[in-house]
Amino acid sequence: MSSAVVVGAGVFGAATARELALRGWDVTLVEQYAPGTVRSASGGDTRLLRFAHGDVDWYAAMARDARLKWIELQEATGTHIWEPIGLAWFGRSENGFEARSRASLDRLGIPYEWLQPEAARDLYPSVNVDDLAGVLYEPEAGVLHARRATQLLVEDGERAGVLYESARVLPADDPRGDVVIWACGPWLASLFPAHVDLKVTRRDVFFFGADGSWRGTPGFCDYEAAYYGHGEIAGLGVKVAPDLPGEEVDPDTLDRIPLPAWERVAREYLGRRFPALADAPVIGTRVCQYDLSADTHFIVDRHPERDSWWLIGGGSGHGFKHGPAFAEYVADCVEGKREREPFHALGARTGDAGLRTSSYG
Ligand SMILES: Cc1cc2nc3c(=O)[nH]c(=O)nc-3n(C[C@H](O)[C@H](O)[C@H](O)COP(=O)(O)OP(=O)(O)OC[C@H]3O[C@@H](n4cnc5c(N)ncnc54)[C@H](O)[C@@H]3O)c2cc1C
Repeated sequence: MSSAVVVGAGVFGAATARELALRGWDVTLVEQYAPGTVRSASGGDTRLLRFAHGDVDWYAAMARDARLKWIELQEATGTHIWEPIGLAWFGRSENGFEARSRASLDRLGIPYEWLQPEAARDLYPSVNVDDLAGVLYEPEAGVLHARRATQLLVEDGERAGVLYESARVLPADDPRGDVVIWACGPWLASLFPAHVDLKVTRRDVFFFGADGSWRGTPGFCDYEAAYYGHGEIAGLGVKVAPDLPGEEVDPDTLDRIPLPAWERVAREYLGRRFPALADAPVIGTRVCQYDLSADTHFIVDRHPERDSWWLIGGGSGHGFKHGPAFAEYVADCVEGKREREPFHALGARTGDAGLRTSSYG
């Protein structure tokens, strides 16, 4: 039996460890804090699962596969992780991100509706559509309970034979395994500074109190304005997350206290887009960090000097949804069944594929 050490129990590491164990590998999963720690990107309360990724079909197809795998995991374990609420993209023009996405969704046969702005009024108790050219509605999109889903991947992996260990592993420790997979999220950059170029930037997320009419309303993304969120889910409140550039941070030492400046912009957006919520109180917050590659593509590659080491990460603010499908891809690459995609290679990246929910770098 081949053995693997997976370092990092965020969604990428937890899903990959589980996938390899299900394929018969002898797997050890090592985590420095705890699975789903709120210091990790995977430790957020909720993450959107959407299919639209501009004109990059690869991620749209993977999101479609991932959705089915998440639902299978939910059904197999009887643990609620998926909210099938749909998602609306507030389109500012007829030929922007939404138009490129529609062409991609057409190519893949993924369902969507292109709604006239007025029709979007039916989606929310209160919504301002004056600035919109149209709304791209994805009925099969939804929201994952991210922290719970990450922990569930670890638990289900353990049932499949994964051995979980608590430790901080460094490259100098030279972990023993036929394969070592470094799935360290934003920490990947400081562990492998010569090979991994990621910008680790802060993100403040706000949940606002709303009445029961906001339950079950669709998720939303405003690509041009750089905001996303969802309606009331599981008592968390209505989420508004600014997706504008944030300062660079250290994920170990960052104080997770939201900044008033970010609360102001989140509230300003909330009041503008959903007028009835203009004065809603903040009832919850999270401070997290992105691990942004220059072009927003993920990283999946062998270490240039250690053939049996794989570096995976660079979720770039859009990685969570793909978890179990991404793990299948990584396991296929490790087993030599699939070539890793050229756009996941280590090394310099140029351009911006615009895969996040925002056009801002
Ligand atoms: C605010 C916010 C909103 C987001 N929204 C969405 C969204 O709506 N939809 C979506 O799909 N994606 C979203 N993302 C992105 C998504 O959450 C990430 O891409 C994904 O969670 C990254 O997972 P990961 O496993 O690579 O990294 P992480 O979740 O950061 O996990 C890395 C793990 O490795 C551990 N680790 C690191 N170094 C070591 C070491 N040396 N030894 C042992 N353990 C180590 C860490 O403790 C951590 O647990 C969002 C991200 C943020 C921050």
